[in-house]
Amino acid sequence: MTYIDDILQRGADGGRISADEALLLYTEAPLHPLGEAADAVRRRRYPDGVVTYLIDRNINYTNVCVTACKFCAFYRAPKHSEGWSHSLEEILRRCGEAIDLGATQVMLQGGHHPEYGVEYYETMFSAVKAAYPGLVIHSIGPSEIMHMARVSNVSIEEAVGRIKAAGLDSIAGAGAEMLPTRPRHAIAPLKESGERWLEVMEVAHGLGVESTATMMMGTGETNAERIEHLRMIRNVQDRTGGFRAFIPWTYQPENNHLKGRTQATSLEYLRLIAVARLFFDNVNHLQSSWLTTGKDVGQLTLHMGVDDLGSIMLEENVISSAGARHRSNLHELIWLIRSAGRIPAQRDTLYRHLRVHHTPADDPTDDRVRSHVSSIAMPSRALPLVSAS
Ligand code: SF4
Repeated sequence: MTYIDDILQRGADGGRISADEALLLYTEAPLHPLGEAADAVRRRRYPDGVVTYLIDRNINYTNVCVTACKFCAFYRAPKHSEGWSHSLEEILRRCGEAIDLGATQVMLQGGHHPEYGVEYYETMFSAVKAAYPGLVIHSIGPSEIMHMARVSNVSIEEAVGRIKAAGLDSIAGAGAEMLPTRPRHAIAPLKESGERWLEVMEVAHGLGVESTATMMMGTGETNAERIEHLRMIRNVQDRTGGFRAFIPWTYQPENNHLKGRTQATSLEYLRLIAVARLFFDNVNHLQSSWLTTGKDVGQLTLHMGVDDLGSIMLEENVISSAGARHRSNLHELIWLIRSAGRIPAQRDTLYRHLRVHHTPADDPTDDRVRSHVSSIAMPSRALPLVSAS
């Protein structure tokens, strides 16, 4: 048995592998044994063979942002003629429309608007909860929390406590990008450090607000920096247990200041997925991003350790502004899962199965549930997701 075989076996059996070992697997392990070891972890964790998906809607309340990340094609600086903010009525209308299509969750996310402090988020979250008590608010991220705390001149603890009281259920893992200092500073020099991003998550977890964690690959980071990103998250998870899932995705290169820089290849993505499943012995779920990598690669990840294919994306504007063109619908997402040899199931935010589609006869029939991506959130183009015809 080679050293790599030994690490793969230990990871597959649920043992802990070090960051150095993860880097060795990422760069040297043959693809098929790597994927098989990661899939063994999935089988052990989820022996029912179920792969989940979610129906939710990303609602962006503003594109005005003072942070100017170089990879971002979504934001506009304050006073820019293309800057916009949605009214509370429009946000509520979009929530209601999502519920009509079966959404169980909203992801409210937006730029760092210079005037949006804790009070703004309290008003928004409490209004959503008042109108739709059953809708889960899995929203914002540590960057928005730091920004609102700064605007309102309060501590992170107070900011999190207040928005939790207003209705925030859990925090999205957005804004992680690359956590190590060098690549993070290169792409988002005005954003908080990776350590600070994790500190805010740790505070939130301590206050009972759980989250997911993400990673954006492909802006010029090294292999070692990719693994360091995983290590930083695992260290916090050892203390808090508050990360429900890890969700890596690939940088999209259009309409931003990094245009033309490297992208992660499909193989790099698949290898990272598999290594993440082996490395994160303390994170329950692994979600892949069909939106950025494409549906074919998304389906392949189901054989590399992934147990969740994420959302149908009733609305998405941020990543699609940078070039993500992939769309899907409920039937197709279910078909991708089933034809990969898994049992599709709709889940809620807590990964509880809402509907298990054992056979095609169990499949939903609502063909209105499909992706709407890119620019539809502009005020001048009020959707609707469902045509009147
Ligand atoms: S990624 Fe977020 S924080 Fe960065 S510029 Fe875009 S909207 Fe602003």
